[in-house]
Amino acid sequence: MGFFIGDCFCLEYFSLKFLNMKITDVIIIGAGASGLMCAIEAAKRGRSVLILDHANKAGKKILMSGGGRCNFTNYSVEAENYLSNNVHFCKSALSRFTQWDFLAMIQDKEIPYHEREHGRLFCNETSRDVLNMLLDQCHKFGVKIQLSTTIKSIQKDQEEGFIVASEIEKFHCESLIVATGGLSIPKMGATPFGYKIAEQFGIAITATKAGLVPFTWQEQDKEIFAVLSGLALPATLSYAQQSFTENLLFTHRGLSGPVALQISNYWQLGEAVSVNLLPELDLQQSLLEAQTNKVKLKLRNYLTQFLAKKLVPLLLDEKLLDLFLLDLSHKQIALITEKIQNWQVMPNGSEGYRTAEVTVGGVDCTAISSKTLEAKQIPGLYFIGEVLDVTGWLGGYNFQWAWASGWCAGQYV
Ligand SMILES: Cc1cc2nc3c(=O)[nH]c(=O)nc-3n(C[C@H](O)[C@H](O)[C@H](O)COP(=O)(O)OP(=O)(O)OC[C@H]3O[C@@H](n4cnc5c(N)ncnc54)[C@H](O)[C@@H]3O)c2cc1C
Repeated sequence: MGFFIGDCFCLEYFSLKFLNMKITDVIIIGAGASGLMCAIEAAKRGRSVLILDHANKAGKKILMSGGGRCNFTNYSVEAENYLSNNVHFCKSALSRFTQWDFLAMIQDKEIPYHEREHGRLFCNETSRDVLNMLLDQCHKFGVKIQLSTTIKSIQKDQEEGFIVASEIEKFHCESLIVATGGLSIPKMGATPFGYKIAEQFGIAITATKAGLVPFTWQEQDKEIFAVLSGLALPATLSYAQQSFTENLLFTHRGLSGPVALQISNYWQLGEAVSVNLLPELDLQQSLLEAQTNKVKLKLRNYLTQFLAKKLVPLLLDEKLLDLFLLDLSHKQIALITEKIQNWQVMPNGSEGYRTAEVTVGGVDCTAISSKTLEAKQIPGLYFIGEVLDVTGWLGGYNFQWAWASGWCAGQYV
């Protein structure tokens, strides 16, 4: 840039160009989970790091995650827990920065945590513990975080690196990391900016949709099922080859609860979801056995041993429910089983990005190195976290992807 000859500082042409620019090795756009992790790792290597974010606070999604307790990772993390058009892409990063590595950070800071069902790990007290841990590390290693900054343009420098222009100043960096996340919860600052940067550099975006999101009822079902609002029960939801068994929640808008969110990642608009309301029971077998044992119960009373009273008449005809078990034909038993264990729900849609936890789809992974997270055709440009076409299941998988991809990029930027 500039150099000294004797006591005289010489401005070569190179430095004139930088005259009104802030110069740093690394700029990260997005002070979320992946951006903060990447910043810490790059700064540990002695790189000067500046994070730019348009929001007025860093890590807003970390704070709101896991109902305020941040489900920060999971005891079991496999590539199978992720969706992507390139299913192998996530393996490299996930194997180099694992759930155990993140857990070691949590333990090192003595953050109290606990395990919930399916190996999910949550803070005991508050998500803020995780955010503070990351911000403390940023501070320790000299990462600069500049909030409330609207980025106007990004240009590739003709010689090297990138020029990032905000509304009021210009920055120059060698490495530019896009960590802008997905589209969910626009109120929290989500924007498609990361996708636009990718497009600007000729990188494709795979189709995006709201993920980990509740389903909405068809108009006619809304009235029918309104009475069930608030009812929760364990269920298996299946779509295509994928099934999940967890709690299902009826809401006045549609179907929610962890199991609905899980299957929403896979579901395609205009298709039915299969709902098994008695996942622990072989209903057909159980009804046949009841007949053999001459159980003197009406179907309604039999079913309400297992299912909520108000749910049963919404699925089966009143006349059928008034029959005694002994009077049921095999055909009727098959029909009852089908209605309860393979109930075909045709959602009208999903609640969309307003309430979705993630975005399915994103920056096409085939254009990105799975080892460094650098764009294969654009040296110095990196994409990490949810902006990429890598979407995790519910259960701490999305944060684990953010930590892992951020950590890996941090070793190279
Ligand atoms: C309600 C909710 C609960 C969740 N709970 C969990 C959970 O418990 N466990 C889990 O694993 N996952 C959870 N997730 C998902 C998880 O929060 C995300 O997958 C994760 O935060 C993605 O990290 P990221 O760094 O890619 O993006 P983010 O953390 O979203 O960070 C992106 C950053 O980029 C900034 N940004 C965006 N656009 C611009 C722009 N134009 N200019 C400058 N800055 C910009 C944003 O302000 C933000 O700070 C939850 C999500 C939501 C919405």
